[in-house]
Amino acid sequence: MKTSSFRNTYAQVSLRAIEENAASFKTWIQPNCQLMAVVKGDGYGHGAITAARAALKGGATYLGVAILDEALELRAAGIKAPIIVLGYTAPEALQAAVRNEITITVFSTEVRDALLKLAQAETTPMKVHIKTETGMGRIGVQTIKELIELITPLSHHEHIEIEGLFTHFAEADVPTSSYTDEQFEKFIAFAQALENKGIKIPIKHCCNSAGTLLHKDKHLDMVRVGISLYGLKPDVSLHMPIQLKQAMHLYSSIVSLRKLSAGSSISYGRTFSLPEDRTIATLPIGYADGLSRALSNKGHVIVNWQKAQVVGRVCMDQTMVDVTGISDIHIGKRVEFPIDEMAEAVGTINYEIVCAVSRRVPRYYR
Ligand code: PLP
Repeated sequence: MKTSSFRNTYAQVSLRAIEENAASFKTWIQPNCQLMAVVKGDGYGHGAITAARAALKGGATYLGVAILDEALELRAAGIKAPIIVLGYTAPEALQAAVRNEITITVFSTEVRDALLKLAQAETTPMKVHIKTETGMGRIGVQTIKELIELITPLSHHEHIEIEGLFTHFAEADVPTSSYTDEQFEKFIAFAQALENKGIKIPIKHCCNSAGTLLHKDKHLDMVRVGISLYGLKPDVSLHMPIQLKQAMHLYSSIVSLRKLSAGSSISYGRTFSLPEDRTIATLPIGYADGLSRALSNKGHVIVNWQKAQVVGRVCMDQTMVDVTGISDIHIGKRVEFPIDEMAEAVGTINYEIVCAVSRRVPRYYR
């Protein structure tokens, strides 16, 4: 699959890698545990529709997005699998969600009441998952009392199915932390309280990629896998118990090659001056492509298996690297931007690097 483009900066995305990663997760989790492929943020920059299809092929049975627009994009592409909006859906958006069979996350009386009102007019079955807050400090009901009060009117409605109950871990990627255990205990208490009230919840879920990989005892009925579906580690230092393949590779190629003499400066603000004569290559990629300007004078690209340092400021459309001493360098030579190393260089996470790759960068699917 190829998007036509005249650019020599591009992201190569292996759909087979996504499919195989999903299949690997399926072997890691219990047969009765569902795999949700998290494809928000345009599939972490990989392309939500294609990533979703590949993940479903690999065994995912649920798709997770952050906002309704993302869910509707998947439905418009003809994807029939269950889709949940993991974040907030505004009352005025509920009808569109219901009519497109999108599962809604409920954590406030505002949305609950709007849903109840809608259920009086709509006969379409509505699926909801209730979000509980156990220590992430983001969204979700905080107490058992609040949960019972929120859920009771929903549980009595014939068109509304409370399909799921979930929470989100704050540091599942820290193997030595007891915080995840504490969050899990709180979550189980929420689930138990509902059970005691005779409210059965078929799908209880709390694990993201790190939780799924490190906390096998907490998978429950479904796991929500995002970053590692794309073959990236939730934390670079993590020992991965299953083999995954990095799906996206970001490439550019040299369009200008010059020998510059000692003292020459590079790019805006002249933040880099050559200490000696060097060979400098220009790459047609910049912050408009999602390449962080924080990489200025930091980070590197890989060319011929060697590192070429970014020199000077990253511009909107162009970036310079020092290729002095690297063999077989010529105009048109391909270079790769190493995702994890870029994240480390600018003090962020690989998630942000792949999500930032902008629309201007063509994706080539294999
Ligand atoms: N579940 C929820 C609620 C999320 O917000 C996210 C992503 O941030 C995920 C699952 C997937 O997390 P990860 O990409 O770490 O697997």
